[in-house]
Amino acid sequence: MPLPVHTPPGKRGNTSLRLGLGLLLLLVQWLCLAEAMAAEKMRLQLRWLHQFQFAGYYMALEKGFYAQAGLDVQILPGGPGAAKPLDALLEGDADFAVTNSGLVIARMQGQPLVALAAIMQSSPIVWIVRADSGIYTPQDLAGKRVMLMPAPESAELRITLAREGIDLTHLELQRTSFNPQDLIDGNTDAFDGYISNEPFWLQQQNQPYRLINPREYGVNFYNDILATHETLLLRRPVQVEAFIQASLKGWQYALEHIEESVQLIHQRYAPDKSLEHLRFEAEQLSKLIMPELVQLGHMNPGRWQAIAQSYLDLDMAEGPIELDGFIYKRKVTTDHSLLYQVLGGALLALLLLGAVALRFARLTQKLRLEVKRRQQAEQELRDSNLQLERLANTDRLTGQWSRLKLEELAHNEIKRAERYDFPLALVFLDIDRFKSVNDLYGHDVGDCVLTGVAQRIKSHLRDSDSLCRWGGEEFIILMPHTDLDHACLIAEKLRGLLAAEPLTGTIGVTGSFGVAQWQPGQSLGELVHCADLMLYRAKKLGRNRVERFSPCAILPLV
Ligand code: GH3
Ligand code: MG
Ligand code: MG
Repeated sequence: MPLPVHTPPGKRGNTSLRLGLGLLLLLVQWLCLAEAMAAEKMRLQLRWLHQFQFAGYYMALEKGFYAQAGLDVQILPGGPGAAKPLDALLEGDADFAVTNSGLVIARMQGQPLVALAAIMQSSPIVWIVRADSGIYTPQDLAGKRVMLMPAPESAELRITLAREGIDLTHLELQRTSFNPQDLIDGNTDAFDGYISNEPFWLQQQNQPYRLINPREYGVNFYNDILATHETLLLRRPVQVEAFIQASLKGWQYALEHIEESVQLIHQRYAPDKSLEHLRFEAEQLSKLIMPELVQLGHMNPGRWQAIAQSYLDLDMAEGPIELDGFIYKRKVTTDHSLLYQVLGGALLALLLLGAVALRFARLTQKLRLEVKRRQQAEQELRDSNLQLERLANTDRLTGQWSRLKLEELAHNEIKRAERYDFPLALVFLDIDRFKSVNDLYGHDVGDCVLTGVAQRIKSHLRDSDSLCRWGGEEFIILMPHTDLDHACLIAEKLRGLLAAEPLTGTIGVTGSFGVAQWQPGQSLGELVHCADLMLYRAKKLGRNRVERFSPCAILPLV
């Protein structure tokens, strides 16, 4: 059978403290877990190589806006060879993507994609023609070599042509080369590019140019739209909202700190793009983002409707325009996680507090018992000290002062007599032939006789006198404020009392008395010695008598 486990008191005392520490540890672990759970990994697919076009996302990352929102964001560049933004979203290779307004076509085709925010309120796509080309309007492009990307990337340019009544068959279409050198070299008449990129390059090459901008022909599409997959929005609405807000905060920062952003992009993301080029890009794109006119990321359902209609008109899209669920609407979702964290923390804190309070209550109780125990022990010690003192000061048989106590009393009286010149007398009494009492009646009877003698003498003494059993059948009486004559009178009275009648039954005893008066400078021993000499003298002279001390009384008896 296993032995019962006994918890030592010290260990038991630490239990609630350990419990408290355990709870604290649990709280810390729990908070760490909550933090780790909150930092979700998110991938953002860009639509082109790193450049100022995506400044807001870089700044959101670098300035910690994503991290503050509990997101761990990875930015994936686009460009030749990289995944296309919409494909990345649909295939689950990215959680968010930056795409163009062709997003609405995919939606109309039934793809579960959602537009979260439109960064550029207008599209940067333009045709760039040489200043000496004689081309001024879209109509002038007829019969010319015109570069055009496939739809929907080139949607704005195609719609411009359509609106201006120019059939594509009237143009000599060329595939986009992405190389503006073709314009300088005369390999094309109209180069399709970004207002924020190629014009800078042509300026650098001192090539005069002109722009044919769809916006001037009433074609105004959103661009660089932040998009996500419907499933992510359904499953992680809080994180999606957090991502949008952090991204827009990043954009706000980038547009308010253009030089800092340019430097950072050049340093970390696009070292091949010169600072001047990035500054040019920033200036051009700011005009399209229009932060001072439109709220960052703003999307208008009417405009999306118009964009979708334009695609339908161009036969680039099919089906009814159903924009429900396409344009992100911020849901008032209450994120209870913080509340739960606070409540959980408060609960644990309460438990901790309870454990500490319990520990204190136990300690207080223990302390109270300890104080009580010590008080009892102190009382017992005081009592036993008193008992010891009584034992030391009192003669056990007769109940009179002990020899030890008499010495103490006598020393005090001698000091007093010395200081105030009081008389002080000492009487030495020895019971006569006491040995024969023991021999005749036994030791117990002898004890009774001793006690009886003491009581009889004590009862006839003054309160100021002290009676002590000096040893055996010898007693000493100390008499303060008493001179020799007076002490002899009292001794004589006591002698008579003893001799007068038997103490117990028929047993009677007598006593011999030696009396001396203290002389200045005399010690107790010397005083006792004088009285003892007189006692001896009384014995010699026949017993049952009182002898008083005087210098001549110490002469030897003949
Ligand atoms: P003396 O007149 O010369 O004093 O004769 P004494 O017999 O009294 O003297 P002694 O000193 O020879 O004997 C003293 C006796 O006292 C011896 C001892 O047995 C007895 N005695 C001393 N203390 C006690 C005691 O506490 N109880 C009893 N019963 N006897 C005691
Ligand atoms: Mg004796
Ligand atoms: Mg005696």
